[in-house]
Amino acid sequence: MKTVTVIGGGPAGMMAAISAAKAGAKVTLIEKNEKLGKKLYITGKGRCNLTNACEPEDFFSNVISNPKFLYSAIYNFTPADTVNYFEKADLRLKVERGKRVFPVSDKSSDVIKTLENELKKAGVKIILNHEIKSLDEINSDAVIIATGGLSYPSTGSTGDGYKFAGCLGHKITDLSPSLTALYAKENYVKNLEGLSLKNVSVKITDKNGKVRFEDFGEMIFTDFGVSGPVILTASAKLGKKINDAPEVYTLHIDLKSALDHETLDKRLLKDFEENKNREFKNSLGRLLPAKLIETVIELSGIDPEKRVNSITKAEREKLASVLKDFRLTLTGTEGYNRAVVTKGGVCVKEINPSTMESKLRPGIFFAGEVIDVDALTGGFNIQIALSTGVLAGECAAK
Ligand code: FAD
Repeated sequence: MKTVTVIGGGPAGMMAAISAAKAGAKVTLIEKNEKLGKKLYITGKGRCNLTNACEPEDFFSNVISNPKFLYSAIYNFTPADTVNYFEKADLRLKVERGKRVFPVSDKSSDVIKTLENELKKAGVKIILNHEIKSLDEINSDAVIIATGGLSYPSTGSTGDGYKFAGCLGHKITDLSPSLTALYAKENYVKNLEGLSLKNVSVKITDKNGKVRFEDFGEMIFTDFGVSGPVILTASAKLGKKINDAPEVYTLHIDLKSALDHETLDKRLLKDFEENKNREFKNSLGRLLPAKLIETVIELSGIDPEKRVNSITKAEREKLASVLKDFRLTLTGTEGYNRAVVTKGGVCVKEINPSTMESKLRPGIFFAGEVIDVDALTGGFNIQIALSTGVLAGECAAK
């Protein structure tokens, strides 16, 4: 009987261990924490968005780094397979906005319990509280490295797999935090903390004014900058560049993306007509969320106490330009401590995409975030971990 050791008890490692055992191998799963799935526990704000109910073809457009490398793994174990797998294992699932799949219970702990049950049924030997320091410690026919990335190191993902792969001669591509909030220089972001904006257009330009990112969606102000889906996507798409030299980037938020300049001007004129005897500061309640009013007034340069009927055309135009192009200077990312995933990892050119086996060292396999693959939010990253885990497990057992 073939022996397989899996390092790392995240979704990739657990799924690899289950698949290898089901394929007939004698499997040991080693996890350095006192329990399995510590990161899985905090996913989806504790609810675990474990996959996305999209077709495999649509899946790849949400993968940022090396989607083609994932073809075999995703087609071998698709998002629909994930849903079937967990439902067969008695975990009821539901699909939410954006085809995000969650357990009906809204508890990530139920996803972990399900995987633990499956590990038990498959006869996997689990060793907890054991940190692998070197691959030399392991004596088995195949080893699956499923140690995750570098983000949220408190959950056990401290980049150990990169070291193991590096010692075997594998190239590790540039690493950077991804799907992370961004810091902004302007002090007034503090006044906006907690303000969530839906349906905004955002653009990020570089120091030459060239547009580097453009999207539409939801964002939130934090005490230090900006976060929310559209911002996380920006961090994933800009990658290492925004992490290394963020101060050259400017975020432009179109607070009134549904209105072009002309329509916005008409709207302002109408609002001003209705409020003509009020002070400017008391005239924006219908146009903007309360939290934004003070800052927008400050940026417009219009005296807050000025009567609305004496606001000039030039002032109105300045106000419209602030609304259409609310700017923040970006000064950094939140870093690995709070990033959802790590961009970069074990170079995919040196891994066989049909098996997840090292092309340099037969018998060594990789699964999950340790590989140079990352995707947007929406359940795609866990699906990548599960699919690469299944493939690595099946092939390691052969
Ligand atoms: P990990 O989950 O990081 O597991 C690796 C395991 O290996 C860890 O348990 C670690 O302790 C262990 N390990 C490491 N080194 C050693 C060693 N030397 N010896 C023994 N054990 C070791 N993705 C989604 O798709 N949906 C979501 O809702 C979602 N939400 C997220 C929310 C947060 C806050 C974060 C941080 C991430 C989220 N993600 C989400 C991303 C997702 O959690 C990861 O992509 C996924 O967990 C990667 O799985 P993995 O098994 O490769 O690695």
